Amino acid sequence: MYELNEKLRALSPYAPVDGPGCVRLDANESFLPLPGEIIAAAKAAIDEMKFNRYPDPAAAELCRAFGEYYNVDPGHVVASNGSDELISVIFSGFLMGGEAFATLEPDFSMYAQGGHLAEGRHIALEKPGWAIDVDQVIDTCNREEVRLLIFSNPCNPTSLVLRREQTRRLVRGVKGLVVLDEAYMDFSRESLLGEEEDFDNLIILRTCSKAMGMAALRLGFAVARPELANAIRAAKSPYNVNSLSQVLGTAVLSRPELLREALGRIMISRKALLGGLAEIGAKHPGRFLLLPGETNFAALDMEDGREVQQELLKRGVAVRYTGGLLRVTCGAPEENRAFLTKFAEILEETR
Ligand code: PMP
Repeated sequence: MYELNEKLRALSPYAPVDGPGCVRLDANESFLPLPGEIIAAAKAAIDEMKFNRYPDPAAAELCRAFGEYYNVDPGHVVASNGSDELISVIFSGFLMGGEAFATLEPDFSMYAQGGHLAEGRHIALEKPGWAIDVDQVIDTCNREEVRLLIFSNPCNPTSLVLRREQTRRLVRGVKGLVVLDEAYMDFSRESLLGEEEDFDNLIILRTCSKAMGMAALRLGFAVARPELANAIRAAKSPYNVNSLSQVLGTAVLSRPELLREALGRIMISRKALLGGLAEIGAKHPGRFLLLPGETNFAALDMEDGREVQQELLKRGVAVRYTGGLLRVTCGAPEENRAFLTKFAEILEETR
């Protein structure tokens, strides 16, 4: 009888929070639908599309639009089927079996999965008090001969951001490759985008799934110096970004004013969510600590976080409990209110 190998037996499929019909504040998506004019442009593009032909393997128009929006050289940009794809392509290409890779825990779970499948030796560094200790990371990575360090900034799930100067210091100090996942950087201002030329060991990842409101289209990007960008192009599958996603992504990235407006609305939602949580916190001192983050979600350190997450689900609100934190995505005003009401109720009942 055929038996799965040990590597696969150690894994289980990604399981989103099970809550059909729930208020969904569990996946850090945008709560905003794409603007009507973008949808209209996409519908017009469908009429022109050659569905029998493969998409552009370089996604050149999309990379150009990304470069223009973020003011980076399009030659440094590689597009992908979500940044999840890049994580696995980078691990499979840049790490040889048995080599060490490091993560800064808690962090995005796909890093450990990618490193495991690439048969790397996992060095899981804990963050003292949720914050990155740059000197400790540099020392450990170099001592353990880490070939690949990957972390998110701002971090999912802590929501905390490492300031630009510290990030530069970290990339300069670490001898191996540093994969800097800036999935949430549209909500902060500490990006290293545009500085990739200065570092020969840096790959920056970005996604259209958060601030841009295109999670359904699966669009991610890697940004790095040409030698590294070319290596990623060589390691990825040729037609990884489908034609429809290329067209829609280009249309959205070419409308910076619409994106800025959407971002503004998400920031207002964040303010409302964090403000509501601070009020509840004042009534329940010591029940939870709200981390001072810069993302589209709130991260709460609370002893009974797992129980509270289960209780919220029973009451129709899906949030995540991950990495020892309760993680709540900023939603539409009525979704935030639904969460805040249920959360306050639960804290009252379990006083
Ligand atoms: N990196 C981080 C830190 C994330 O939180 C996520 C989404 N949960 C991703 C990458 C994956 O994004 P994408 O939808 O582009 O695959």
